[in-house]
Amino acid sequence: MAVAGVDGPGAPTPGGVATFAVHDPATGEVLAHVADRGPADALAALDRAVAAADGWAATAPRVRGEVLRRAFDLLVERRESFALLMSLEMGKPLAEARGEVAYGGEFLRWFSEEAVRVQGRYGEAPEGTGTMIVTHRPVGPCYLVTPWNFPLAMATRKIAPALAAGCTVVVKPAELTPLTTIALAELLREAGVPDGVVTVVTTTDAAGVTAPLLSDPRLRKLSFTGSTAVGKVLIAQAAENVLRTSMELGGNAPFVVMADADLDAAVDGAMLAKFRNGGQACTAANRLLVHESVADEFTRRLAERVAAFVVGPGTADGTTLGPLIDDRAVASCTRLVDDAVARGARVVVGGAALDRPGSFFAPTVLADVPRDADLMHREIFGPVAAVTSFRDEDDAVQLANDTPYGLVAYVFTTDLACGRRMLGRLRTGMLGVNTGLVSNAAAPFGGVGQSGLGREGGSEGIHEYLDTTYALEPHG
Ligand code: NAD
Repeated sequence: MAVAGVDGPGAPTPGGVATFAVHDPATGEVLAHVADRGPADALAALDRAVAAADGWAATAPRVRGEVLRRAFDLLVERRESFALLMSLEMGKPLAEARGEVAYGGEFLRWFSEEAVRVQGRYGEAPEGTGTMIVTHRPVGPCYLVTPWNFPLAMATRKIAPALAAGCTVVVKPAELTPLTTIALAELLREAGVPDGVVTVVTTTDAAGVTAPLLSDPRLRKLSFTGSTAVGKVLIAQAAENVLRTSMELGGNAPFVVMADADLDAAVDGAMLAKFRNGGQACTAANRLLVHESVADEFTRRLAERVAAFVVGPGTADGTTLGPLIDDRAVASCTRLVDDAVARGARVVVGGAALDRPGSFFAPTVLADVPRDADLMHREIFGPVAAVTSFRDEDDAVQLANDTPYGLVAYVFTTDLACGRRMLGRLRTGMLGVNTGLVSNAAAPFGGVGQSGLGREGGSEGIHEYLDTTYALEPHG
């Protein structure tokens, strides 16, 4: 496997450069070694981004769009190898990895189209004394930091709008899953992305590599997807140079099932919202809030489905639930489940780590989870469905909003008016009504509160990488 680094995407590791191992979480086996870059390498990567910035910004939007479109076409051609790579380094079942290739690819296609749709305004000043002209231009060199849970989509969701807007980027993938980003950088090069426009920096020293970049005045933008704890540190660091920031942070999604909900649809939705990616998603349904009149029946039907999961390596035939990302994640799920049970929750299925090689936790359903359980207040990030009941709509709203996060919420009801009301009442950036999946490249993805700042995707996404400029031309 070629290693991307400061010498450009796909360049081989120069002799003597330190490397680190990337593991298969299903077996613990080493998959590859990649370059372990340091602060000086990160600054060299920024040098490249700065050197390429003017040329890329001056490249016609149509040309930038066509490069992204070629990248989309190449990704479609290589769908299987990207899916396999992600399944190997991250653990998700192959079918889900294919789904992520499709989703991640959509950002390349969508922003290939958006590149030529950046429009300004032209109008008369209210006083009638001149013409006001509003335009946009690229913010400049960007630093993009991505998490391990969606190795491809989190990268394309940032790289595609940045490139469409005319920005050059330095990308730092999570150390647990750098291989997909390396392969993506190579694909972008083949699609025609010029030298220096995208440089990948792989490292085990995220903080050490990031600090000098954020304090370098040549950098103009930080886009981060990851935990709220790290996001807060980066926002503080970004203040030094008043950087533009986009922050896609953690969540604690409520999944609300009203008394009138179609329970089969609600269970389908919960399977998707809770167990996709093994529950390791910022959008994962963290709290299943179910009306007390249907809680037992919902839990029974959900448990039946959960007990039928085929747990195994993501790459194995028939696997429907893969491993967690590492043993720390297994330990965290164990602690959260034990805490809930100690406070009175009931284990309906699963409930513990699996005694087998790799980082596996049993798919789990907990009933009667008390409101003060730890997992009601922090991301579970694992295959644990925690069911709590509520009395009425007001109680559901109060419970759902009892979190500083606000990324996504789900509501299941057959009452359209109730669905619409919830859009106003739930503090959230996104809402799924009778669906367990809201992500779409054409929609603005993002949260409120401690779930972050800014939006990715949609017509909003490209503006995260554009400055607005205004000129006044007085009439002669
Ligand atoms: P994380 O915050 O530990 O790491 C995210 C990235 O930040 C990684 O690349 C990591 O190497 C880097 N990083 C860690 N410490 C750093 C530091 N001090 N300075 C600079 N970089 C640093 O998160 P994770 O465990 O990789 O991902 C899971 C988290 O990401 C969850 O909280 C999840 O909700 C969130 N997430 C959010 C979204 C979203 O769109 N809102 C999407 C996916 C994941």
